[in-house]
Amino acid sequence: MPDALLSIEDLQVEFSTRDGLVRPLDGVTLEVGHGETLALLGESGSGKSVTAQAVMGLLPQPAGKIVGGRIRFDDQELTALPPQQVRALCGTRIGMIFQDPLSSLNPVFRVGDQVAEPLRRRLGLRRREANARALELLHRVGIPDVEHRMHHYPHQFSGGQRQRIMIAMALSLGPDLLIADEPTTALDVTVQAQIMNLLRDLQQERDMAILLITHDLGVVADVASRAVVLYAGRVAEQGRIRDVYDHSAHPYTEGLLASIPQQEEGGARLTPIAGAPPNPLAFPQGCRFHPRCPYAQERCRDELPELRRPVGWAPDQAASCHFTEEVLSRG
Ligand code: SF4
Repeated sequence: MPDALLSIEDLQVEFSTRDGLVRPLDGVTLEVGHGETLALLGESGSGKSVTAQAVMGLLPQPAGKIVGGRIRFDDQELTALPPQQVRALCGTRIGMIFQDPLSSLNPVFRVGDQVAEPLRRRLGLRRREANARALELLHRVGIPDVEHRMHHYPHQFSGGQRQRIMIAMALSLGPDLLIADEPTTALDVTVQAQIMNLLRDLQQERDMAILLITHDLGVVADVASRAVVLYAGRVAEQGRIRDVYDHSAHPYTEGLLASIPQQEEGGARLTPIAGAPPNPLAFPQGCRFHPRCPYAQERCRDELPELRRPVGWAPDQAASCHFTEEVLSRG
């Protein structure tokens, strides 16, 4: 893996809710290298978006707080900075795009002005320069007829085009890291592929790192080089994406991959994982996946598995499962 740009170590986040304290992240460790794309995978509620919020200083306040661990970005310890300083850093060196661009774009401003605004405010560019840069960015992300369209409002664009505009905004200050949280979930399959290709091309052109968060394992295989799979606030598996996809070392990853729609004769078919992710107010004892795991044994109900490298397997691959070797040998 390239040198770490973002390094998260044993991160623990707590939310105070009406029903009590919950810990949606419980000891997550991961790294994103300079210029690499890391896929952060898992079902809804696994802790992916909370990880992004913790990095960006965007945990809901006052309910959410980091109660353990560290987040380091380049040479700065983010967990030691006040949230407003983290957000200032994030505005420049870390860009973010979300699932729903409409909630991030201001409906009453023209998109060209929205892309140009941070260039004026943060970089001090004059209006003419900022507008020229905004036009360039919108052109690069594939907005057609951009001289004309940059004067339009967000509602005048399709969902895929709005996501492209969000990407242009996130890139405007030249971030070293882009966090993309479910960037294609609301889009149809063709547009999903176009956005993923765009992210891959931009990452290569700019040598930018990307933390790509998604529940959809089908969309990232050709874009990311490594993957971290989260389940119930902990790392279930990590490794090079090809190893994780071709030889899953954790039954949860195996289940996620089996649930990707397969185009077969007669249409799409999928095999969902039995059951549902656990309620964070009452995570099961032992391995948190055991109520859904087809391979669970007695030990799994009592003992929380640690992340470890399977004996004699790919050097970068690790899984939190007592029976990883058996899982791999079946694959
Ligand atoms: Fe399944 Fe047991 Fe492995 Fe957990 S530790 S994933 S329950 S086999």
